Amino acid sequence: MKPGVISSIISKISPSATIAVAAKADELKRKGIKIISFATGEPDFDTSENIKEAADQAMKAGFTKYTAVAGIKELREAICIKLKRDNHLDYIPSQIIVSNGAKQALYNAFMTICEQGDEVLLPTPCYVTFPEQVKLAGGTPVYVPTKEENNFRITLEELKTKYTPKTKVLVFNSPNNPSGAVCKGDDLEKIANFLVDKGIWVITDEIYENITYDKTEHISIASLGQEIKNQTIMVNGLSKTYAMTGWRVGYAAGPEEIISAMVKFQGHVTSNINSIAQKGAIEALTGPQEMIKAMCKEYAIRRDYIVKKLNSIRGISCNSPDGAFYVFPNITKLYGACLGNNIINNEMDVVNYILEEAHVAVVPGEAFNYPDHIRLTFAISIDDIKEGLKRIESAINKLIF
Ligand code: PMP
Repeated sequence: MKPGVISSIISKISPSATIAVAAKADELKRKGIKIISFATGEPDFDTSENIKEAADQAMKAGFTKYTAVAGIKELREAICIKLKRDNHLDYIPSQIIVSNGAKQALYNAFMTICEQGDEVLLPTPCYVTFPEQVKLAGGTPVYVPTKEENNFRITLEELKTKYTPKTKVLVFNSPNNPSGAVCKGDDLEKIANFLVDKGIWVITDEIYENITYDKTEHISIASLGQEIKNQTIMVNGLSKTYAMTGWRVGYAAGPEEIISAMVKFQGHVTSNINSIAQKGAIEALTGPQEMIKAMCKEYAIRRDYIVKKLNSIRGISCNSPDGAFYVFPNITKLYGACLGNNIINNEMDVVNYILEEAHVAVVPGEAFNYPDHIRLTFAISIDDIKEGLKRIESAINKLIF
């Protein structure tokens, strides 16, 4: 292709670091090899029957036309009820926009408040999409590395080191993908006070709010006071909590002026989300909630297994996550190990070695702007987890240290 055809803004976006791994895994699959994949962040549970039933009824009743861009009022009301019930937050439907997954809600948010040259604080490791969306919106990602010793929880001191007068927004993702870090009350309060003091916006991604362990409590930063709420865009969605990734239902809550601007933008990009999914979403948010606890109980069993097993494997050390469904082990002690001419020098070598030798797919930490680690999801069956880890262990045992 001739230079200049692809726009400079799209050229600036990094391809996903997982693509190379996925392509290699596909090649092996085509050869008939069974790959165990710890790569995708998707619940292995099915969407509950009552939710499917609500969508089915909507479709049969002909609820198949365009809706309001921001989503039907009944759904926005259901979201307000949820925010009050679970997060002690008062919002009204005009302060809510329903989007095509949390991903579009995030994109709407960045596009709405980022100006060329604005600096956006991104604690790392961070979700792969944040930096790319910030760049698309003309902002500049400013990475703030968290410490593994602090279980990857961001602190005010760390944020302060990267603050400049150009800082416009902090992206706050707790529980975090990929580390599982959950910010504690005291730290959260200090951070909120700082943001209010400096007039920094916060885009808070709370998509894993319901997946926490050992009585860890999720606190929504907007619930800490009216001042911080006034400068918060809260993003959430149904993908993880209700095992509804394919339905594409996410939402944002925030000050009315901001939400109206997001609606204006979304109106020219995608309009409303799928009308039938909106009816399913109302049932998910207002119907029985028991399945969330049941899923978490199962994730907790898997987490305990995966953390213990990984720590027993030579060269791997793994913190226990407080939330979400990922582990993010440190693999630096594998550096220098080799098998024949195959020498491990960095985390990408580890990812490739595990894929080629163990037929197991994992994601390199580089995808999350945090090298020397790999990410494994435990939103896959316990049998696959056991088999995958057994394979990783025997591949690593073959290495000469
Ligand atoms: N935020 C985070 C932190 C995520 O991990 C994901 C999904 N992997 C999303 C947002 C996007 O979720 P959705 O399916 O609602 O677009």
